[in-house]
Amino acid sequence: MTTTRFAPSPTGYIHVGNLRTALMNYLIARKAGGTFILRIDDTDPERSKEEYVDAIKQDMEWLGLHWDRVERQSDRLDRYAEAADKLREMGRFYEAFETPTELDLKRKKQLNMGKPPVYDRAALNLSDAEKEALRAERGSGVWRFKLDHERIEWNDGILGDISIDAASVSDPVLIRGDGQVLYTIASVVDDTEMGVTNVVRGSDHVTNTATQIQIIEALGGTCPRFAHHSLLTGPQGEALSKRLGTLALRDLREQGVQPMALLSLMARLGSSDPVELRSEMAELIEGFDVNRFGAAPTKFDVQDLFPLTAKHLQSLPLDDVAEAVADAGVPADLAEPFWAMARENITTLADLKGWWELCRDGAEPLIADEDRDFIAEAMTLLPEGPFDGETWGKWTSTVKEATGRKGKGLFMPLRKALTGMERGPEMATLLPLLQVIRAKA
Ligand code: GLU
Repeated sequence: MTTTRFAPSPTGYIHVGNLRTALMNYLIARKAGGTFILRIDDTDPERSKEEYVDAIKQDMEWLGLHWDRVERQSDRLDRYAEAADKLREMGRFYEAFETPTELDLKRKKQLNMGKPPVYDRAALNLSDAEKEALRAERGSGVWRFKLDHERIEWNDGILGDISIDAASVSDPVLIRGDGQVLYTIASVVDDTEMGVTNVVRGSDHVTNTATQIQIIEALGGTCPRFAHHSLLTGPQGEALSKRLGTLALRDLREQGVQPMALLSLMARLGSSDPVELRSEMAELIEGFDVNRFGAAPTKFDVQDLFPLTAKHLQSLPLDDVAEAVADAGVPADLAEPFWAMARENITTLADLKGWWELCRDGAEPLIADEDRDFIAEAMTLLPEGPFDGETWGKWTSTVKEATGRKGKGLFMPLRKALTGMERGPEMATLLPLLQVIRAKA
């Protein structure tokens, strides 16, 4: 059975980059009728915070990315210790004692000599007595996985055939000196034991994948199918890493971005399929294919979310937005006509308030000197209330007859006098909503 996972570390709020990973894994699982796991990668007790776990769940719920179950790495430390023991018994695990400064120095030397900065495995040559002495002096060492120096190959769902020379990669540290288990082994143990069949993650994990493939094989597991999506850049191709902090999902929600707008963009951006606004998750699931994504960096412009949000809102019936309409102050008996007018004219639901205020209080009229008499006359011809969708048509016909004005010369001054703007909603839909005018009529 197809099983995928989204595995955020709860060390901050999740952003658009994380969403891409979450969504792809979600869509693969749902399309296959499989299982989608939310895995909390919280092996780092200092940086992991409960408030971020809650925030991640809220953000995913907001988007409708429902998970089948939650797993937490901090609950599974004994499983990782067991795997570590196994690797130790197999002779694939060794303790190393270099300090960060020593490692840094080694790297610099290698780079100076034009060599790749790969850990030199000096620790493999330590005798038991030397290790004992180092342990006494520096405390426990880190535990490194001894890679087999051969080519590591896989067919990547996005990048195609990948081949990495294991000799060009440092033996990964899986356990820190203080005993903290690192993500690289925890993830392998989880993926194997939880039967994860497909892993989609960012291309910053490609080297991890190479080492994880060897660890999975050493532990006797089956490799999932890997796919590495490209990383997002800004609209000009600039690195987004620094700005990701401002592209947290909760900020986008705050700015009024609608979930379907965000999901529709993210399910297609960087793929060979065009971005199309979808109204239902089911359509996104149906149309998703991870193999259609490209390896090139994907340009993301937060501004693209707003036209999609506007278009999505236009398609919604009042029922879906009744709360927002009421929150804007619109009385229940006007909610239906108000929404019919407003949805054509808003970008986000936050704009409702402004439109309601215009209806309720009227606008500062915009009247040119030469139109003063015309407007005064037109106002005396305003039909008796209550106003409906026909009122504007009837009124403007009467005004036309009385004044001889027609076309733009007729409509534009009226619009500007009533709304204070040169363009905006259909006047026929707006007029019945204008409280001030209605009161006068
Ligand atoms: N916690 C890891 C991260 O956020 C998960 C990577 C993975 O999907 O394996 O980068």
